[in-house]
Amino acid sequence: MALAASGLRAIRYALEVDGIGEVIAVDNNEDALEACKKNIHHNGSAASSKVVPHLADARVYMLTHPKEFDVVDLDPYGSPAAFLDSAVQCVANGGLLMCSATDMAVLAGGNAEVCFSKYGSYPLRGKYCHEMALRILLSCIESHAIRHKRYIVPVISVHMDFYIRVFVRIFTSASTVKSSPLKLAHVYQCTGCSSFHLQNVGRINSKDKRNISLPNFSPTVPQECSECGHNFVMGGPIWSDPIHDKEWAASILSSVHTISSAYSAYAKISAILTSVSEELSHAPLFVSLHNLCAILKCTNPSISTFQSAIRNAGYQMSGSHVDPLALKTDAPMSVIWDIMRCWVKLHAIKYRPGNHPGTIILSQEPKLQANFSHVPGSLVARKSPRFVPNPEKYWGPKTKAGRQPKIRPMDNL
Ligand SMILES: [Zn+2]
Repeated sequence: MALAASGLRAIRYALEVDGIGEVIAVDNNEDALEACKKNIHHNGSAASSKVVPHLADARVYMLTHPKEFDVVDLDPYGSPAAFLDSAVQCVANGGLLMCSATDMAVLAGGNAEVCFSKYGSYPLRGKYCHEMALRILLSCIESHAIRHKRYIVPVISVHMDFYIRVFVRIFTSASTVKSSPLKLAHVYQCTGCSSFHLQNVGRINSKDKRNISLPNFSPTVPQECSECGHNFVMGGPIWSDPIHDKEWAASILSSVHTISSAYSAYAKISAILTSVSEELSHAPLFVSLHNLCAILKCTNPSISTFQSAIRNAGYQMSGSHVDPLALKTDAPMSVIWDIMRCWVKLHAIKYRPGNHPGTIILSQEPKLQANFSHVPGSLVARKSPRFVPNPEKYWGPKTKAGRQPKIRPMDNL
């Protein structure tokens, strides 16, 4: 447990995980370590016999214990970037690295240059920014791993409340590392209509059977967006392979159902695992129906109507655990816009501003005739919830350790 603070989670691992051996609770802060020792003592012999508090810089500790730990939980306040290089070396072959990041303003596009300096990727501001944040973190962990002939396999990657957390297994294989560029992609995002297109960093060398990749060909998008004529910005690289092991998520979900009374946060755990187990694996990022309609300034089709049109066109669609309004699909942007053009033909718009991306999109005739007839299995016709409300008012991160909250004059009255 790197950056263990009060030891709360290290003690929970010791007390709640069957068959666990030793938990090393590492922190660089003497006050935190004293609190950790007291908490271990308060939790009796079960905690005392398994949790070992250790005062050290987590980077140095992990670097001096290569491939020694089955599981490493990296949970700093803010960015984990400075710890990743030592963390990926510390995990045993096939072991698990759990990593949190709370610097969402950076990862979600608020400070793009800071994100590049910390994670080596440019974020883009868009409806999918939180999923992009997850994929930037995974890309960053992979980039550190491959320097040491290791690679990652994501188990589950979630955006929750105000932070992201990824669980990845780490393996050693010099040959698999060569295919790493095939799992990373740049993202082209249109500055007019927000259409996005992914392009893998590498491509498979079809003449070579050793998994060796080559630099990919020139951009998959034209200089100007074919839908609205605006320019693209280029973000990434991001992790473009699946971010969850859906079979694992489904099996955990079924086991959680059988002992639901054991989990006080059962509703939230169940909602996230349900959502994760349904996500389309090979559809990185997503569109928002509200955003599409806002660009065209048209009325919203219902989600089930839009989903039916996507399915009738031969493509798949799912939700995402990241956003209740997210729609993941393997349909290309051209099909999505054609469906919206057909929708607008049936539901006329009263006012269209002149030089607006939506007006340019609607000036083109659809190549695909959308079929809105109902297809069963709508995203909205489900019994179990995919999202649950926050547990209390003002739910969110508290002040960082060592910082004093600012007291305004009115607070003293
Ligand atoms: Zn566009």
